[in-house]
Amino acid sequence: MMSLVPRIRVLSDSLVNRIAAGEVVERPSSVVKELVENSLDADARRIEVELTAGGRSLVRVTDDGCGMDPDDALLALERHATSKIGTDKDLLHIGTLGFRGEALPSIAAVSRFVILTAEDPSKGGARVTVEGGRILGAEAAARARGTTVEVRDLFFNVPARRKFLRSPETELRHAQETLWGAALARPDVAFVLRHGNRTLIDAPAVADASRRLKDLWRKADRVTRFEAKGAGGEVQGLLAPGGGRGRPTLTLLVNGRAVRDRLLVGAVLRVLRGGGSGFGGARVVIDLRLPPESVDVNVHPAKAEVRFAHAGAVFALIERAVREGVAASQGRVAVSRLDEGEPEEGSVAEHGAGRYGELVRGRLAGGAPLFAHPAYDVDPEVAIGETLEGTETPISGHHPAKRSGAKPGPADTPFGRLIGQYRDSFLLLEDGHGLVIVDQHVAHERVLYDRILRRLDSGEAPSQGLLAPRLLELGEAMTAAVPVVEDLLRRVGIEAEVFGPDTIKVSSVPPELEPEAVDQVVEEILDRATALDGVPERAAEELSEEIAASLSCRGAIKVNHQLSHQEQRALLEDLVTTDNPYRCPHGRPIILRLSQEEMERRLGRR
Ligand code: ADP
Ligand code: MG
Repeated sequence: MMSLVPRIRVLSDSLVNRIAAGEVVERPSSVVKELVENSLDADARRIEVELTAGGRSLVRVTDDGCGMDPDDALLALERHATSKIGTDKDLLHIGTLGFRGEALPSIAAVSRFVILTAEDPSKGGARVTVEGGRILGAEAAARARGTTVEVRDLFFNVPARRKFLRSPETELRHAQETLWGAALARPDVAFVLRHGNRTLIDAPAVADASRRLKDLWRKADRVTRFEAKGAGGEVQGLLAPGGGRGRPTLTLLVNGRAVRDRLLVGAVLRVLRGGGSGFGGARVVIDLRLPPESVDVNVHPAKAEVRFAHAGAVFALIERAVREGVAASQGRVAVSRLDEGEPEEGSVAEHGAGRYGELVRGRLAGGAPLFAHPAYDVDPEVAIGETLEGTETPISGHHPAKRSGAKPGPADTPFGRLIGQYRDSFLLLEDGHGLVIVDQHVAHERVLYDRILRRLDSGEAPSQGLLAPRLLELGEAMTAAVPVVEDLLRRVGIEAEVFGPDTIKVSSVPPELEPEAVDQVVEEILDRATALDGVPERAAEELSEEIAASLSCRGAIKVNHQLSHQEQRALLEDLVTTDNPYRCPHGRPIILRLSQEEMERRLGRR
């Protein structure tokens, strides 16, 4: 009888390397990444990368690092040969970019590969030639100290992989992005990128990343730095507005290693979007420093992803940092309280939790009503303006030499000390720099917008059945779009369904919203939905924002609406937890400051 079960065999090295190459080497940019990391690990001061046809025909990386002696040059091509770690314990404290000992043999298994290296030029160097994983030759060769690795015809022996390579332009873009990551992580090393006979990057060694960003990207004339510290780590960031359209690009460095993180990219993009329209095509660099034991770099064969021990805290920290970057870059009033003593730490963490953390999910799921912050209901007991008592500043003009109000009162909100409400429409505060004015409608709109987006992501909103369902005649086109948005609407508490060929029935609404306002929201959303076609996920994402904007505008407290002191404070506390307390979802400013200096100058006190 024939055996159906094949015998188990140990795979040959060359087969193993080709399998590993499948994980480590995806495209030319993966080769660039691995070789450049090796050069950095070898303490190179200058790294030159040359590509032909986007790297499809050639990737050559030349460095002036420590080089290898001829024996090591051969050994380096063995699988799991590495000079970087030696014991199990080392894996917990990886201080180099490489450690798996897989890159060189993997790359050599799927290309025509030459390594030319010398550790001590006076003793001579070595050239090793490999084709599809077979060593064709190893010979003495001369070169200055350092290493050159040449990788030609990637995947020449794996046609299935070669088929997946994209156009030279696309591959070049990936390679360039990869090199940007390394170059931003190491501004102290010079980087050159050549494609054919064009020099795309020529970045000399510089002192800091913002200088480096300007060398890499000529568009980056205005680079804003930002930073934030938290319990678990520290972020230094750069933000260069793109001044245009398109998705912003994020370079994320974790302990000096460029990595990808889809969730984090999403979080940063949301913060930027919250910042209004000024960040199309922007560049963000985030340099995150964490204790090595709180991040695992060994979770991805190409070391392109990492795992955080405290992901929720990391996200909150980064979001907070980017928010500050956005605010700083827009030149909004810099609210000093935001920087001091991190009073908003908890609330920002809460914010991040909607997406990422277990932290306060319980609190969110507990279901604060979507609109009515309990504290925004008018409380007639509290007389408006009561706190203005005793705050009168001597402005009589009898003491022109005397500076007014030497010190601001102690802050009782995240934005400073609350003075009160002006004309039932604006909140007035004082902070260390002057008089702060908050538009209550726009502020509440911002709060609701963030809250609704979170709901859409994660929860069910309270909803209230209407005794008499509302019938909206909106025409056939809009009615036909109902199925596209039904689910999104339900998640914010609106129950809408097709009633007739051109009629929609709305049977439940969020309890806090006037039914007429709901009509308008439904109409707006359907109008949007009919305008968007194709790509359903994109439509859903855009529609989510649309719904949030529309609902928050209709649901927000209006101007000419009296708020108690307690309500005013609650609104400010909510505002500071939003993605951008300075701009409404449509880009309108929320907060204004009249500086002490300006006030005094205009009153002739300076
Ligand atoms: P890893 O980087 O994980 O150690 P690699 O396969 O990338 O594994 O490289 C294997 C070894 O070859 C490295 O540990 C290092 O000792 C040596 N090596 C690779 N590239 C260079 C280089 N550019 N300069 C000096 N040594 C290198
Ligand atoms: Mg390596």
